[in-house]
Amino acid sequence: MSTLTEKIREAAQKVLAEGLAEVVLGYTQGSLPYRNRVTAVNTPEETSRLIWPSFGVLNPANVLHKLKGKKVALISPGCVSRAVVVLCQEGQVKRDEVYLLGVPCPGMLDPSKVRDLGKKILRVEDDFKEKVLVVTSEGEKIVAREELLRQNCLECRHPTPPVYDELLEGEARKPSPSPYQKVEEIEAREVSARWQWFQEAVVSRCIRCYACRNACPLCYCPTCFVDDSRPQWVGKTRDPVDTALYHLVRAYHLAGRCVDCGSCEAACPMDIPLRLLTKKLEKEALSAFSFESGLDPEAPLLLTTFREEDPEDFMITQELKALGKI
Ligand code: SF4
Ligand code: SF4
Ligand code: SF4
Repeated sequence: MSTLTEKIREAAQKVLAEGLAEVVLGYTQGSLPYRNRVTAVNTPEETSRLIWPSFGVLNPANVLHKLKGKKVALISPGCVSRAVVVLCQEGQVKRDEVYLLGVPCPGMLDPSKVRDLGKKILRVEDDFKEKVLVVTSEGEKIVAREELLRQNCLECRHPTPPVYDELLEGEARKPSPSPYQKVEEIEAREVSARWQWFQEAVVSRCIRCYACRNACPLCYCPTCFVDDSRPQWVGKTRDPVDTALYHLVRAYHLAGRCVDCGSCEAACPMDIPLRLLTKKLEKEALSAFSFESGLDPEAPLLLTTFREEDPEDFMITQELKALGKI
């Protein structure tokens, strides 16, 4: 039986040879055994560079804007397909200009979990099912795959892409039964403890490098609010108020849009768990509006529509209570 890498190369060759796309965006090996990177392939011969990655932590939909005007095929596990769907809904990409080569996703490994297994990582062999063999300078280790998965893959509700033009054969991991466990752990704390977590885990450690923003396929504004100087919405230093504002505004800009691909968190040089902020908003959108992002290119976006029965008590209760009107 052929591997996912072989299936991807074969499908990419066909897509290019038949003119279904001019470029295929996928993954290739990076410079370290626990790094893979996004690559663009233009000819059937070049498809030998493509792999199904263990460490495909950056979302290739992030570079679609650089290929405007070209028909692009994307190797698409669930979170890549969903990011493209949001870009279509937002008018950034035309659905007929992208070809989604869907992959039932077994989940990706967390480079930092693998990196910590030895002084020097020499080789990683992933069976994409149960086990990972990690060869380090101190010897070999066989580790259960589940222990090395990225947190967003452990919490993923759509490993099989909900939208695709072609779906490769393969076995996706099961949708997570407890996608919000980490969020709920923070929610269970007192308000002051939650604020303290935000200050300690996020604000005080952030160096404002914006790698998280740059890695996000849905942060595409030509001028980000943090770069604007007229007006200057937020200061540019590491002042805690400015840094807190950056994270809160960024999270709200992704409400009803984030597809939990985890690229932002993977790009962060400080290992800040910033996905928890967007995950919390994802949970709110699901519980209040039964909405999940990136499932249907024809559907309206969460914040561009309403239903008469939409809940509104969370908006008005506190204010009316304060005014003594309810
Ligand atoms: S978030 Fe889901 S679709 Fe994306 S890589 Fe992880 S398991 Fe696959
Ligand atoms: S905010 Fe992070 S997890 Fe959400 S779409 Fe952007 S990069 Fe992916
Ligand atoms: S990538 Fe990390 S350190 Fe850089 S701005 Fe984002 S949260 Fe802060």
